[in-house]
Amino acid sequence: RDPFAALKDQPADGLLALIGLYRNDPRPEKIDLGVGVYRNADGQTPVMAAVKAAEQRLLTEQTSKSYLGPEGDPVYVELLKPLAFGETLAASKRLIGVQTPGGTGALKLIAELLKLTGSRVFVGTPTWPNHGPIFKSAGVEVIEHPFFDKATQTVLFDEMMAALKAARAGDAVLLHGCCHNPAGAEFTAPQWQALNAFILERGLLPVIDLAYQGLGNGLEDDARATRALLATVPNALIAYSCDKNFGLYRERVGAIYALAATEAMAQRILGNILVIARTHWSMPPDHGGAIVRVILQDADLTQVWKDELAETQSRLVELRTLLAASHPRLAPMAAQTGMFSLLPLTPDQVTSLREHHGIYMAGSGRINIAGLTVENIPVLATALSPYL
Ligand code: PMP
Repeated sequence: RDPFAALKDQPADGLLALIGLYRNDPRPEKIDLGVGVYRNADGQTPVMAAVKAAEQRLLTEQTSKSYLGPEGDPVYVELLKPLAFGETLAASKRLIGVQTPGGTGALKLIAELLKLTGSRVFVGTPTWPNHGPIFKSAGVEVIEHPFFDKATQTVLFDEMMAALKAARAGDAVLLHGCCHNPAGAEFTAPQWQALNAFILERGLLPVIDLAYQGLGNGLEDDARATRALLATVPNALIAYSCDKNFGLYRERVGAIYALAATEAMAQRILGNILVIARTHWSMPPDHGGAIVRVILQDADLTQVWKDELAETQSRLVELRTLLAASHPRLAPMAAQTGMFSLLPLTPDQVTSLREHHGIYMAGSGRINIAGLTVENIPVLATALSPYL
């Protein structure tokens, strides 16, 4: 028996296939709005200056490559706390954290924890396409509910709240802390408050995916909803990624945080997270976390990083504003945040834009805002106009 004969062929990942198609497209005017990495006006994804400086420091000062532990670098994990959660929460013994390989690693640990707690997870649609598979891979039941309508570019808040009534105490609700991927749309402050009250009243477990802090409205503002929620609920799980806001993508830098009702429960969760981490990657890779630690330990480097992040953020805002002004149906995109928006297109229209205009985007119509330029926005607008 060939054991591999039991394996089924898997469809290629659509977005990754797009990279190859784009690379092989000879048209000089082609536009890449596909994969979700930040790009500057020259189309580059540069290493941030603070990261380069931190790496140089590590190169000269690091004395050992010996193992850390399954918890990763505890100094890195502690330094991120005030950045993400503010000083008050950061000091709470109810909040524990562990370093993970990217936000994806943190989400995987959350999924395995939810399996142990017997929680189901409510996930808005659309969402990052990896969310559902990560929870399902751990055997957690995923219940989808409406979140966003791309035709009208509106958050379906009432529909979402109606669907959440089916949640039982202890069930998890997945929320994007800021910069929704793929919709770019956020809840308004009153909507966050209503959701917060509902979560509290029903005893639900918020799972916050915070993968883009600083890329929306700035570091503080992007954390506001998360902090407000954590200030009131007894329990929460957070998947944090430094891969976008530090530009560290391939270094795979993230952390899982858990807020529990008591310090003792927080320690019990920590113990469980470490056991799960041991069976997944044993210990997270160090380099990216070490870079973030060096930056956040040094006031000058922190400022250099914050300035570059703010530049990145304002470039995204500028491009959004131009895109939104290019057609009335795209106007709502001015108020959206972060790296992505969803164009109101069918998959056939997406294919047609690629074939006839060399404009590349995910089949859903999701575009990477950072792939736009002052020059290519009018080109995009003209190509889109028959469909809008
Ligand atoms: N959550 C969301 C919403 C994302 O968009 C991404 C990355 N595309 C992640 C999590 C995973 O981030 P990382 O690359 O750090 O694993």
